[in-house]
Amino acid sequence: MALYRFLDAVYFGDVHSHSNDQDASLLPQRRGRDSDYTDRAVSTTKTVRQNRRRKPYASTSGGDGWTEHVSKGLRILQVPKLAKIPWLVHGFSTRPGGVSDLEGQKVCNLGFAEWDARENVLENRRRFVGALGGDQFSLAALKQVHSDVVHYFEIHPCDPRHGDASVTNRPGLLLAVQTADCVPILLVDTRRRAVAAVHAGWRGTLRRIVMKAVGKMTMQFGSRAADILAALGPAIGGCCYEVGTEVAVEFQSQFSGAPEWFDELRTGDEPNPLQWLNMKPPGHQPPPRNVLLDLRKANRSQLLAAGVRPCNIHASDLCTACRRDLLFSYRKEGPRSGRLMAVIGIRA
Ligand SMILES: [Zn+2]
Repeated sequence: MALYRFLDAVYFGDVHSHSNDQDASLLPQRRGRDSDYTDRAVSTTKTVRQNRRRKPYASTSGGDGWTEHVSKGLRILQVPKLAKIPWLVHGFSTRPGGVSDLEGQKVCNLGFAEWDARENVLENRRRFVGALGGDQFSLAALKQVHSDVVHYFEIHPCDPRHGDASVTNRPGLLLAVQTADCVPILLVDTRRRAVAAVHAGWRGTLRRIVMKAVGKMTMQFGSRAADILAALGPAIGGCCYEVGTEVAVEFQSQFSGAPEWFDELRTGDEPNPLQWLNMKPPGHQPPPRNVLLDLRKANRSQLLAAGVRPCNIHASDLCTACRRDLLFSYRKEGPRSGRLMAVIGIRA
């Protein structure tokens, strides 16, 4: 197991983490029917409802049955099991569409950033929420700080709260998290009608934020884990998420299953690892390399530990770093990256 070799390491490499904290400004309440929206042409598809279609996202999101919902010029990812709950609204945004200009491309940036105008972000948010049919909702975003703080919202908060997850059972509130590599997680208790939105980067994952969100739902609403459905959206994958070995050491100190979430980084020119271990005299080993972390695997494992049923956990396998045509990646694009948004709410 690659990880155990790193645990003996004395060399601590750079921590590859990022902060994508956002100014979490709020969407103005209740907009009109937004007649200026440009809908993607759908005339050639067989649709049930005008201007909306769902198609399987099988080519990119794997066998877990995610669908792509195209509306108002935006492509939104959804989990069918959640989409068919009549009182629920949910969705994960993607990059294309929107009014923000990023390197000559029109993109749907949903987080405030220096490179983008505030009014563009607000317009993108209106389009995203409108595309989900959530015009009556008020958007409750957070000031994300890579913490394990979970807020319970009874009413719309006057100011954006510092924290990385929120829960509610009140209709009309659209809980939101923003990401550009970290894992966005949406939870719904189908029996008690309660929802949660969670932002889990490596720090939040290490602090078990998704378990704490389940715990908060239990405390506030009497939720049982067996009644909870979970959707883990697009995030940087185990293929691309390189972290320092000290991150692996921290996880290993807290989770017995941690070795399964890490993989060895392969450049292709390293010697046979066993040979390398055996031939170097003590004290002359090259510094350990970084390792690859699969954040979704880690969060899935925490959901299982919290009692959520395996059949109720739906994880996208889209990697933000591999799919920059469809998503945003802070790792790959740096401060000029946009932000994706995941939202969930209960209809009035
Ligand atoms: Zn990747």
